[in-house]
Amino acid sequence: MQDDTREALAFVSRAAMRYVEELDRQQVRLPNADEAAWAMPAEFPEEGAGTIPALETLVRGGIDAAVRSSGPRFFHFVQGGGTPAALAADWLASTLDQNSFTWVASPLGTRLEKISIDWLNELFGLPPEWGGILTTATTTAHVTALAAARQWWAEQHGVDVDEQGLSGLPPVPIFSSGYLHTTARKALAILGIGRSRVRTFAADTTGRLDVDALSAALHGLRGAPAIVIANVGEVNTGDFDPIGTMADLAGEFGAWLHVDGAFGIFAALSPRTAQLVRGMERARSVVADGHKWLNVPYDCGFAFVAEPERWPRTFTVSATYIPDLSASHPDFGHLGPESSRRARALAVWATLRAYGRSGYREMVERHLDLAQRIARRVDAASDLERLAPVPLNIVCFRFHPPGVPEEELNALNERLGAAVLEDGRVYVGTTTYAGNVALRPAIANWRTGEEDVDLLVDVIRELGAKLAAAARP
Ligand SMILES: *Cc1c(COP(=O)(O)O)cnc(C)c1O
Repeated sequence: MQDDTREALAFVSRAAMRYVEELDRQQVRLPNADEAAWAMPAEFPEEGAGTIPALETLVRGGIDAAVRSSGPRFFHFVQGGGTPAALAADWLASTLDQNSFTWVASPLGTRLEKISIDWLNELFGLPPEWGGILTTATTTAHVTALAAARQWWAEQHGVDVDEQGLSGLPPVPIFSSGYLHTTARKALAILGIGRSRVRTFAADTTGRLDVDALSAALHGLRGAPAIVIANVGEVNTGDFDPIGTMADLAGEFGAWLHVDGAFGIFAALSPRTAQLVRGMERARSVVADGHKWLNVPYDCGFAFVAEPERWPRTFTVSATYIPDLSASHPDFGHLGPESSRRARALAVWATLRAYGRSGYREMVERHLDLAQRIARRVDAASDLERLAPVPLNIVCFRFHPPGVPEEELNALNERLGAAVLEDGRVYVGTTTYAGNVALRPAIANWRTGEEDVDLLVDVIRELGAKLAAAARP
């Protein structure tokens, strides 16, 4: 190995700049993407190729194979891009290569993480005394915050669950609506509570909360402690659980209210949508993503806990060479699932410092407007049918040309979803909503504008018409 770091960074930065410059124009998926991915060298090299040749192969094939998900026309799942400040700060995080495990290893990473958490608290309007941590994603934020809930719950039964485990304890009563995200179940499996243990109360096939059923279930516990999960921003339509009502119930029955706000928490940023999350400040834990609407590069999430002094002991580590958890500064390696950890705070701090509350509010409101623009175009088109209201940044609809019988629509929309991904000009997938196969574009990328959402609707109608014509006898 020789030190060709300067040359390597210069080479990659030129390639990265080209990539970013073309991002607004290029297809989301290049026609040769799969081919390029399969063509990446896979034989283990006995003799190395050298720094620049290896990077050349990565840039040449890799960039063709990359899905332009950080670009403006990626509407699949809910993904953001990286703002300029976040992207550049994330590069710096790799260059400085800080281990944000403990203050001694990285005063910079630790200090910026504490500031970032405080700023996010303010951005979302959470009480200032809450504590938090940056995680890899909402999934690991669920693990962190639900570990706090689990610890609290076991304490009511006289057990220190992190020392003794769950054996001997009764099943954990845990309730949610039909909007529960699959990653909350994953976290419950990791924590030994069990992914099927959670009972969901849905009023209908959309998953909307049945408040009376939740209330009855809490009643049925006769005072035993429970955990309630509220969902702010459901992935099919962007709908919200009635968080105020759930906070009332949690207060009445002494339950731990945990809130999944992966992207929906950003409703707090605009007076147009802030009422959708009102009541969240009465929860005991809240989780969200950074790599979605905050638009920092993968991967980044946040966990907030209302009583930082009750932080779960699940994640503490001890060894003679590791500093103990200190009172004077947070050592985040003791507080979350990862011990050694990337300095994710650099990107979070930089993007909030660069654009502030007003920049993010402006972006969120632009996305709200774009979602309404799609909804209007869907409503005006004779071959599209909107399936749900649009409270936030997701529009749930299907292709429904006149004359196609109801029983053929699911298969037609499945094919349409696949055709859109294959086409590659825009990216959007299908879901099943209340029994109907539907498209559900989500807008979360800071680059997305009117021309991008217009193209989305045009491409869907164009490809849909082709499929419908081909299906006609
Ligand atoms: C995306 C999402 C998650 C999971 O987030 P990851 O970043 O994939 O861990 C959880 N809940 C909701 C509502 C989401 O949209």
